[in-house]
Amino acid sequence: MENKKIVVGNLKSTMNIEDVSKYLQVINKEIASKEVIICPSSIYIPYFLKKNYQVGLQNIFLDEGGPYTGEITPTQAVSLEIRYAIVGHSERRIHLNETDEIINKKIVAAINKNMYVILCIGETLEEKEMLRTDMVIRRQLVNALNGLSIDMLYNVIIAYEPVWAIGTNNIPSIKEIEKTVEYIKNVVKQISGYEDIKVLYGGSVNEHNVKELNKINNISGFLVGGASTKADSFLKIIDEVIQK
Ligand code: PEP
Repeated sequence: MENKKIVVGNLKSTMNIEDVSKYLQVINKEIASKEVIICPSSIYIPYFLKKNYQVGLQNIFLDEGGPYTGEITPTQAVSLEIRYAIVGHSERRIHLNETDEIINKKIVAAINKNMYVILCIGETLEEKEMLRTDMVIRRQLVNALNGLSIDMLYNVIIAYEPVWAIGTNNIPSIKEIEKTVEYIKNVVKQISGYEDIKVLYGGSVNEHNVKELNKINNISGFLVGGASTKADSFLKIIDEVIQK
């Protein structure tokens, strides 16, 4: 993976087929960058393949392949040349009780198929208010990256996504993000010796705040949810981070 900034669009599960069609008419014309990774709802993935951007999964199964009803396995993903998967998104941790241990298995299964994972970590508002951000992040990293060699870590991208910042228009200060990103890099270095981990920021990134956020010097890009579902907003974000 090159050392360029990346922008990941997490389209979540809100778009229907009409929305997707309109969206594709714009983005297929305008996005020509392999540093843009769009993660559609899995039922719409075929519409996004073989364009001038990358496609990622919003989730992946914890075994490489096999009969797992309703799941998408790494073997299936790579058969479509899909190389990226988001793992550990807070919406899955909260609504589906996804644990750090499950997330660790997903990471290992995906990397064994030579995929890249975008591992989401971050504290809840309650944890932030109790000054537990660092503790929570350390726990999430130690558990999710358990047993990974340095070679495997090359395929991991961390997305720092404070849960309280997702879809709320509340974001940490630039200083807070910078400090937490540095902390994440240090923890990864301490537990594995790997020094080059990429860290993205995610949580209410939009076309108005991205310019300021993009000034954070230790950030490798952004994971964008809501704003990535609006083609015009997403293009402006990409333009600010990548196509300049
Ligand atoms: C997300 O869900 O990963 C996310 C960052 O959402 P939003 O940009 O809407 O806060």
